[in-house]
Amino acid sequence: MQMLRLPTLPVLLALAATTATATTATTAAAQQPPAVHSVSDISQEFTFYMDGRFHTQYLRDVGHDERNWGSLARLDLSNVNLLLLSAGDRRIPYTAAGIANVERFVRGGGALLLMADGAEPMPPGAAVAAHFGARLTAQAAERPFAFAGKLADRKDEITCRGGTVLELGEDWQPLVVDKQQRPVLACRTEGKGTVLASSRGLFGERPDAKDPINAAWITPLLVGFAAQKPIDPQKPHRSTWVEHERKVGPLLLEYHDGTAPFADRIAAEYQAVRPHLVAVTGVEPSPGMISRLLVLPTGGGGFSSGERIAIGAFWGNYPEQRYPMVELIAHEAGHSWVLPYAEPLWNEPIATYLGILVGKRLELPDAQRTLEAQLRAGRKHDPDYTKVDPQRDGAPRDLVWGKSFFVFEELDFQHGPGAMAKYFRSKRAALQPGRKGYSLDDCVAVWSRAVGADLFPWFRSLGFAVDPARVVDVPRGG
Ligand SMILES: [Zn+2]
Repeated sequence: MQMLRLPTLPVLLALAATTATATTATTAAAQQPPAVHSVSDISQEFTFYMDGRFHTQYLRDVGHDERNWGSLARLDLSNVNLLLLSAGDRRIPYTAAGIANVERFVRGGGALLLMADGAEPMPPGAAVAAHFGARLTAQAAERPFAFAGKLADRKDEITCRGGTVLELGEDWQPLVVDKQQRPVLACRTEGKGTVLASSRGLFGERPDAKDPINAAWITPLLVGFAAQKPIDPQKPHRSTWVEHERKVGPLLLEYHDGTAPFADRIAAEYQAVRPHLVAVTGVEPSPGMISRLLVLPTGGGGFSSGERIAIGAFWGNYPEQRYPMVELIAHEAGHSWVLPYAEPLWNEPIATYLGILVGKRLELPDAQRTLEAQLRAGRKHDPDYTKVDPQRDGAPRDLVWGKSFFVFEELDFQHGPGAMAKYFRSKRAALQPGRKGYSLDDCVAVWSRAVGADLFPWFRSLGFAVDPARVVDVPRGG
């Protein structure tokens, strides 16, 4: 998911729900108290995969997983028997105090799984491996793979998406080796517990959790090691949130020790962006929205839950590049501006378009370039933007986005300046609390009322199958 605009939280929740229904076949196992209390660490690098998908793939029937959003050094691991760590983001090293906390956990009987591949330069996770006497390398593992050590008798298939081999100190035991007999998964005893080091390639990666590779043997392996430390299923096992929060203007800024050096800059960008969003939309954010800004340790994007926006601190190579960060912040905040009635069809494009408008107001040339590139990409599917209905099943993404931008630009040209602000003001006035849904027909009715003209014929001339007869509860005029 690197360098991709991440889906917004509602989309992810929907994905999670889909995954859950696909796995309702959990029977007796799910009703037993969980044998595993795992913590997936997302403090060193946030990914949606570690935020629940790993659990879905490998532990859903046997374990109760919680997330660590806060500093690893401060994490309470007393009622936890499996800790999951990733290679981490290069800008956030594993601290000595964090590694010491992990070591205490393992010595007390806990199982640590470090999923990391080596690279040049080495990721922060290399320091964790080194602490326990193993070395990540940048040497690619070669097919085929074979079981070794205590897994030698297993007959399962081994899938590796590609990864690197480990170099092991003498206390380590290889569990999976590559064609050259080099370890890609290995374990060692440390005190009463176990350290497992693995190539990341032995585990799934899809945000929808549909690739649980190697689960047939990884799940029992993890359960076996975790069982060395009994947990008390009656005692709470909860997520740990970031430990710092601070008022910045109207916002509560949320971060941890590792993201602290980046937090102020991100908050300052939000404060620079906000007045422009108000100007562009003509309204304040919906009441109760955007009261918190969480700084995420990732370059991978962000999400919005309405009340909270989460911003990847290194998005678009920030701070070397500024425009992508301005666009991301405006985009995620924009999701909160449109609530409680998100736009159909162009929910994502309108959020990015608000980012483009803010970028233009901040005189960042990349804003216009981003707009033009998307308009061009859409024209490949519909050269004059009059033919293809973007609501049609299977309409290409570039068509949907390009046509949305085209519509916004044309509306401003014909009914502006400030057509977007007219629309947002009209929408706030027209839509009454408690209404059900907001269709594209309703949306066109709101636009019509905003600009004082019947826009249905115009939208239809652009290929939109909209119909004024289907409009629900949008009063005319005003
Ligand atoms: Zn979005």
